[in-house]
Amino acid sequence: MVRPVIELINKYDAGKFPKGEGYINLSSNENPYPPAEDVLKAIEKSVESVVNRYPDPEYPELKRAISEYLKVDVNEIFLGNGVSDCIYNICNALIDTLDKVTVPMPSYTMYVMYSMVREASINYKVYPYYRIDFEDFIESARDSKLVFLCSPNNPTGNSIPVEGIREIVESVRGYVVLDEAYVEFSDSSAIKLTDTYENLIVMRTFSKFFGLAGLRVGYGVCKDDRVVSALEKVRLPFCINHIGVVACVEAIRCLDYYRRIRDKIVRERERVYNELSKFEKIEVFPSKANFLLVKSDNLRLADKLEKRKILVRDVTGLTGLIGEHVRITIGKPEENNALLNALKEILT
Ligand code: PMP
Repeated sequence: MVRPVIELINKYDAGKFPKGEGYINLSSNENPYPPAEDVLKAIEKSVESVVNRYPDPEYPELKRAISEYLKVDVNEIFLGNGVSDCIYNICNALIDTLDKVTVPMPSYTMYVMYSMVREASINYKVYPYYRIDFEDFIESARDSKLVFLCSPNNPTGNSIPVEGIREIVESVRGYVVLDEAYVEFSDSSAIKLTDTYENLIVMRTFSKFFGLAGLRVGYGVCKDDRVVSALEKVRLPFCINHIGVVACVEAIRCLDYYRRIRDKIVRERERVYNELSKFEKIEVFPSKANFLLVKSDNLRLADKLEKRKILVRDVTGLTGLIGEHVRITIGKPEENNALLNALKEILT
């Protein structure tokens, strides 16, 4: 029989996928640009040479590359098949039944989903638009086994100030898991705090800034070697495939390329934000990520855009968002222009 708690869990909503040709997909916070040329070449070469072999399950080259990228010790790194898998593994390794897990909302739904799989006692703290009241939060989170934070946060786009993260990490008895999936689009990371605090786990991904969402590579950093070895133990030994390894190692060598496309995306984010601010019927929120949250009360915006072959994520109903909201990924300039033109038709 299926465990009763599994029956209670809502399946992860991966959004809509294009149903044919001609769609503009702004629904999954992907990077719209292709990989660097050298990354494509490395992928091609790896397909020819090594697909009949298992990858080295310790992934030494990948960990070395990440350690150089982040300037952290290689022994402080753990891997996963995307950050999604890291979240799953953290829950498996750290949560016992009825452990208290604190999650400020609205945020990414996987924290709650996999905490529920472990039958955790979930302490939802709702702060409209993820504007965390630190005093209130710390009071409530202090005795947690795990706290999940997301900065910049999905779907609101705002960052948590590093000093706020530090205060939380200092006050919580258990571990703070900080999801920095979108951090390269922002101007502040708390990764340095891992030098000081053993109870901080920071997760990162190759899916967003490095535009490799299809290859599924995520990782994390923690100074506590018991946590790193637990996470390296519970993940599947070959959870990252060889093509993912060579692509990520090469992507880190091509940082200049990725920084250039990041700068383009950030410029577009600010332009689209300014343009969206001009529509009276909607409200757009400032963002430090590669997407924007829009309040679109009763406009059924996601459906109307889909009719025009533009996909955005309807996040209405997420705990902590009141009324209709959509999340719009920043695309290439021409895709963003198509979005703005469609909205002009719909809203004026
Ligand atoms: N964390 C956040 C906040 C996300 O928005 C996403 C992807 N939508 C992930 C993690 C998962 O990323 P990955 O592709 O690395 O599994």
